[in-house]
Amino acid sequence: MTSKKHSLTRAGGAISFDSPKMQESVAASGYALRRKTMSKYHAACSCGQLSLSANAEPMRVSLCHCRACQRRTGSAFGYQARFAREAISINGNSTQYVRTGDSGGTVTFSFCPHCGATVFFEIGSVPEIISVPVGTFAMQTCMTPELSIFTKHKHAWVKLPDATENIE
Ligand SMILES: [Zn+2]
Ligand SMILES: [Zn+2]
Repeated sequence: MTSKKHSLTRAGGAISFDSPKMQESVAASGYALRRKTMSKYHAACSCGQLSLSANAEPMRVSLCHCRACQRRTGSAFGYQARFAREAISINGNSTQYVRTGDSGGTVTFSFCPHCGATVFFEIGSVPEIISVPVGTFAMQTCMTPELSIFTKHKHAWVKLPDATENIE
């Protein structure tokens, strides 16, 4: 496991506010302030040390009923929203856990080293997105899941919305 200290947007996306050139141009335009105040969603761990803001709508909202997501969440399924990486700003320290799937793909979970809550995760095969567990927003959202995966492992009592696409 490794630890990372985040400030503003992590490098790797098309736009990084960590680059000196961008910081200069955003300071000149005042865009950084507007960007901050326009955040649509704010997520945080249980203790508040690790937090994240998204300034765009999610690209996709899904449920995952796989055994690994059940174990990670301690709940019936994982429930996450995908965002474009450049829409996300992260603050605080996180510790990473890398999960390798049956197909060899990796998912890197970033959680608060103090309270243990996972605030975001990154899928190795789609580096341009960041996934955020919807519960970390701790707000009433309209994030109805469009997709349900590993539905064959769904707990029997769970009833999915009619419009949700199913992948067994
Ligand atoms: Zn915490
Ligand atoms: Zn899963």
